[in-house]
Amino acid sequence: MSFSDYFKQLDLDKLSMQLYSCTANDVERALAAPQRDIDHLMALLSPAASAYLEQMAQQAYQITRQRFGANIGMYLPLYLSNLCANECDYCGFSMSNKLKRKTLSDDELIAEISIIKQRGFDSILLVSGEHETKVGIDYFSHVLPIVKQHFSYVAIEVQPLKTEEYQALVALGLDAVMVYQETYQPITYAKHHTRGKKQDFVYRLTTPERVASAGVDKIGLGVLLGLDDWRLDALLMGYHLSYLERRFWRSRYSISLPRLRPCTGGVTPKVELTDKGLVQMICAFRLFNAQLEISLSTREEPSFRNNLLPLGVTNISAGSSTEPGGYQNPNTQLDQFEISDERSASEMANTMRTIGLNPVWKDWEKAWC
Ligand code: SF4
Repeated sequence: MSFSDYFKQLDLDKLSMQLYSCTANDVERALAAPQRDIDHLMALLSPAASAYLEQMAQQAYQITRQRFGANIGMYLPLYLSNLCANECDYCGFSMSNKLKRKTLSDDELIAEISIIKQRGFDSILLVSGEHETKVGIDYFSHVLPIVKQHFSYVAIEVQPLKTEEYQALVALGLDAVMVYQETYQPITYAKHHTRGKKQDFVYRLTTPERVASAGVDKIGLGVLLGLDDWRLDALLMGYHLSYLERRFWRSRYSISLPRLRPCTGGVTPKVELTDKGLVQMICAFRLFNAQLEISLSTREEPSFRNNLLPLGVTNISAGSSTEPGGYQNPNTQLDQFEISDERSASEMANTMRTIGLNPVWKDWEKAWC
């Protein structure tokens, strides 16, 4: 059964009611459980769990240290193109936005790589808008070998592809694919995705299965927090993660928890996720799944990022640009969204060391596998 068939059997209204009806007893049972399941995740994401944040944070800290030590993986996004054939009302790259469009040439790509390497990164996330004719499989197949010469770990965050296309990219050195559902609530999804292939909720929902079938090492899930009720979206992402881990147990998994940020022509959040809510969410996922990698981007403020780091986060970016060519020519206003943490990679690494964390620039070498 595909996740889409499984998802159709879920009654979202009923799940929402159960989530908001969890009691203190449910949360205490979840905190005491030696192994946690999806019902425990529900309790930990519920409003009732907000009174247990301190206990959740302590457990999340211990589990993270046991599994990952004091290590935090460092990565940087490299934007390949801001061309996009979709309309998503929360994103600066939406096709109707009056924005100068750009796709990196080989020379521009090499210039960006050179700057990123000088900053010490060995793990890269290639990002593009979703434009399959101009920035599709041919372009990715061309740039991947160039990028792979310089980085041990290469992830992509681009439009959903076919299984055989992912297989072709794996043969060229692809290690990870990030594909965010944005929201698991179909009515809200339809409201925010009004044009282009991204309108197909089910095709996106089944993408992680195609990625896993193609033998990609790591798969990243995510929701854009603020589009709808974050508690329910997080719970549904938990269902998705559990399904994938059961069926594709060879893959590694990560989640990303971006909050909606201002962008050109963008919407304001329907449901605001407070700092306290984000802490609860990170701790809930860490308690639910000790192996899960949790990624934190530069969308969050510096002091808040410092506080979040020990609680379950395993990967961060620092000194990011969200525009194509932005490392060589910053501030050309081609960005996808505004960032909050402007610290450079070395500043971030120094801060991490002062709080007992160890920035890791390289933790992957395919030849070792
Ligand atoms: S979120 Fe992605 S698909 Fe939507 S407009 Fe932005 S780049 Fe395009």
